Amino acid sequence: MTTHLKSLLSPKDWLIEETEFDKNKLNVYETIFTVGNGYLGTRGSLEEGHLAGLPGTYINGVFDHFDSFIIDLVNAPDWSELSIWVEGEKLSWHTCSVLEHYRTLDMKQGFLYRTTRFKDRKGRITNYESIRYANFKNKNQFEIKVNITPENYSGTIKVMAPINGRVFNLDLEPAYKEKPTFIPEVQWGKWTKSKHLGFVDSGNTETGIFLELKTLERPYHVIYNSNLSVKNGEVKTSNQFDYENICQQAEFEATVGTLYEIEKVTTVFTSRDAKKTQLKSASEKLLKESLKLNFEGRFKLHQRVWQQKWEESAINIVGDAKANHALKFNIYHLLICANEQDYKANIGAKSLSGEGYKGHVFWDTEIFLLPFYIFTQPETAKALIMYRYNTMNDAKQYAKDNGYEGARFAWEATDTGLEATPPWTADGANRIWCGERELHITSAVVFGVLSYYQITKDIDFFLSYGLEILFETSRFWNSRLEFNKKEDRYELNDVEGPDEFHELVNNNVYTNWLTKWSLEQSFKFYNEFLEKQPEKLKILLSKLNLTANEVAKWQNKASKIYIPFDEEKKLVEEFEGYFKLKEIPITVWDENAMPVYPKGYDHSNCHETTLLKQPDVLMLMYLLPDVFSNEIKKINYTYYEQRTMHKSSLSPSIHTIMGIETGNYERAFQYFERSAYVDLVDNQGNTNWGMHIASAGGTWQAVVNGFAGLRVKNGQLTFKPWLPKSWESIVFKIKWQGDEIQIIVNLEDIQFDLNSLSEKNLTIEVNGKEVLLSSNKKTTVFYH
Ligand code: BGC
Repeated sequence: MTTHLKSLLSPKDWLIEETEFDKNKLNVYETIFTVGNGYLGTRGSLEEGHLAGLPGTYINGVFDHFDSFIIDLVNAPDWSELSIWVEGEKLSWHTCSVLEHYRTLDMKQGFLYRTTRFKDRKGRITNYESIRYANFKNKNQFEIKVNITPENYSGTIKVMAPINGRVFNLDLEPAYKEKPTFIPEVQWGKWTKSKHLGFVDSGNTETGIFLELKTLERPYHVIYNSNLSVKNGEVKTSNQFDYENICQQAEFEATVGTLYEIEKVTTVFTSRDAKKTQLKSASEKLLKESLKLNFEGRFKLHQRVWQQKWEESAINIVGDAKANHALKFNIYHLLICANEQDYKANIGAKSLSGEGYKGHVFWDTEIFLLPFYIFTQPETAKALIMYRYNTMNDAKQYAKDNGYEGARFAWEATDTGLEATPPWTADGANRIWCGERELHITSAVVFGVLSYYQITKDIDFFLSYGLEILFETSRFWNSRLEFNKKEDRYELNDVEGPDEFHELVNNNVYTNWLTKWSLEQSFKFYNEFLEKQPEKLKILLSKLNLTANEVAKWQNKASKIYIPFDEEKKLVEEFEGYFKLKEIPITVWDENAMPVYPKGYDHSNCHETTLLKQPDVLMLMYLLPDVFSNEIKKINYTYYEQRTMHKSSLSPSIHTIMGIETGNYERAFQYFERSAYVDLVDNQGNTNWGMHIASAGGTWQAVVNGFAGLRVKNGQLTFKPWLPKSWESIVFKIKWQGDEIQIIVNLEDIQFDLNSLSEKNLTIEVNGKEVLLSSNKKTTVFYH
């Protein structure tokens, strides 16, 4: 049966469409059209290749440091590569005229669809249609299916389906101030290519061809098995092997008006998934099994998982189709970048969609991404936290190497927890201090652990892993805090908070407060489990060699941590001395209502001023909602918002949330748009390097924690909704301590439907008033 690929497409509100081939947007669409399944992500490059393309396939967790100054998430062979040749002429943008072109990302079912009509130099017209997906069920299986129809000719058609291991990562070097002797002159200050994969083996198999590669510095083996088939017609096949570039070819005589179905099915395994000696058989076995099914069968498995993922993360903004579409787009990318089965990989700042930040993992995971996963797919959240647990030995080494105790997490982590932040900017002109100074990543990890525990009540996880992270990081803070004898207080000096314009500061409030909070939480949970689970706690205490005395010290230090605060103005001071900096007002905004640098200022000299890169004090007020009064939040919002340049895509979503909380609604909505559309309209100008995945997570939070006003306060769910007048409602669901709650926020009321397996009731709060939710019964509360 012939499958007309277009018929697979979901309704239009699930599609992101590209209707023409625009060279200027080429690399942005490659990012936006990434397909993936958390195991790997593949950018949406045209399968036959094109000039100035930035194709990329990134296997989660496969990093390498050979030939690159900074460790890279390796660009691996692209399983979606495929080209069609008509009587020796390649169908491509460079060799043909393109009569029609359309691509669309189907967010509902996780595939990229394409149709292009090529007219070659001899006037032959070929209709080309393709679909590609990364199987969500069998995460090691990938497929591109192509339908071609010769419209006005009969002739020989050749299909080439390579697995090309001649791939590189791109680096804008150097990351060193002075040229180290090992860098050749020609590479200094230029784009360079880093090769990370070397040839191991290749050959024919029962089902097709295989290629085995190895990372040159790290120990990872990567294997691809691939099968090319043409479903109809008499086909001549041949395989070519040229070290790391292998290819399957199929040639057939095509008849005018006939549709030919071509399928390239590939499996990918690495020594992260299976023993080196078993890779070949694992990959070959999955390919064989996959080929027992036809395209429909394989695709159905994939579709089913997508259906389930969307059910779990269902959320709709009713009344604003554009915002709803953008929200779905952000969630699509959140769904394809995390792998609930992998406890040793995480999410890089650009997900698996590009080489920006070299695939490194930041605080973005805990603060911006985790909330989405905890509330909708807790298994994925757990895997992301387990990555931190599994890299804790490196975090301990990091602390030790710097003369401290316990565990200090790296600002940028990779396949290890060792610090991977480059020390210099790409042009070699400026020092990058984040690695040394952004200590707050360590409390972000704790924040993630405690949020997960609070929302899931996964006590086994907490006792086996969570508490250990909490205690080991407390040990770090305890040893890092400096006692100021004169003032009788504890301080953290030479640090950098989230606002990276100010790189060397003392007593950054965000860092200090979260340190204080972390230590207090350690003390609290120590006592709680001493009562609840003394036996289990004792095992952990003896493993860590931790005593009651040590924990008491933490509590004592926490109570004396310095928090700069202007009592009179009720302003929290971002760091000591911040209020004495130059006041340079923002007076110009761009077309998106975002601030433009005042004349004479840019990222390099804003440290002389009170201008901020991104929220710092406001970030703290969001994360710890119980700590500050509404009055203080309002005063501080007004003060800091005026000084924030939003030079990080992490900034707008937090301003949406805090804007709504403090009653600054109009700007809040503008910030929401800025966050939701960041990649769809490329409003930061660098989507070509990959998705701003933290902003995607921030967009989800802007809707749930901003407009729906959800906060967890004292362990209780609370809501304080506000909807823009143009919206009708937000309909979504969350998981809460093993139960599921369906929530509809309308303009005047909010409705809850608690689905509790244990039939328990739940007390929540709406606008400060207690509400009792009964199991399996709808409850409506008017919030105005
Ligand atoms: C931001 C950091 C963020 C990093 C990666 C930087 O520009 O300032 O807060 O972690 O990007 O997204």
